[in-house]
Amino acid sequence: MKTRGSLIVLSGFAGVGKGTVLKSLFETHDGYAYSVSATTRPPRPGEVDGTHYFFVTRERFEEMIRQDELLEYASYVDNYYGTPRSYVDNRLDEGFDVILEIETQGALNVKKKVPDAVLIYMLPPSAQVLKERLSGRGTETPEVVKKRMRRAMEESACLDQYDYIIVNEDVDECAQELNSLIRAQRLRTQSNQSFIRKIQRELKEIAEEGD
Ligand code: 5GP
Repeated sequence: MKTRGSLIVLSGFAGVGKGTVLKSLFETHDGYAYSVSATTRPPRPGEVDGTHYFFVTRERFEEMIRQDELLEYASYVDNYYGTPRSYVDNRLDEGFDVILEIETQGALNVKKKVPDAVLIYMLPPSAQVLKERLSGRGTETPEVVKKRMRRAMEESACLDQYDYIIVNEDVDECAQELNSLIRAQRLRTQSNQSFIRKIQRELKEIAEEGD
């Protein structure tokens, strides 16, 4: 019997390294499925349709909302972002742990719809490290770095609504920690209801043998 996988929501400030940690996780462990979101924002150089995002028009996105094709969606910096529901449901049924890498508004909506979903927030070891990482990319102007830091400050107000935090000090260690955390979800009693019932039935049968 295959256990249904866990729905994992990962959020974190821009520049915290979610993508790098997930890459390390997927390279070193099986059993994960990454949910590719739909978005109305145009692709950045190097982004591939169907791999990084499903790039769709605003009309198509609004149709997806009307047809209830999205598990959640949010409007973020003038664009829509959303999670296609069917991929997530199918992979969970197949026993994969499905990871949604989404912002806080969408994450909290997922939790309302799927109370079993596990919300994880990735943090930098300190605010100074985040600033250095953002500046160190070399691609951002000081104004952009400042804007991102301000946004991080605002987002940090939601932290208490997450189930877990993980700190990205070292990419590979953080990936291992994330893996342990997700695997542990499989041991939750509510994830093992049919096994618990089976053991209870067996115990009853044996205990009452010969009564
Ligand atoms: P970016 O445009 O930089 O790729 O993403 C902007 C933000 O949108 C990031 O915080 C990212 O995690 C979030 N995001 C990506 N896909 C989704 C989604 O399907 N739903 C929601 N709510 N946020 C998403």
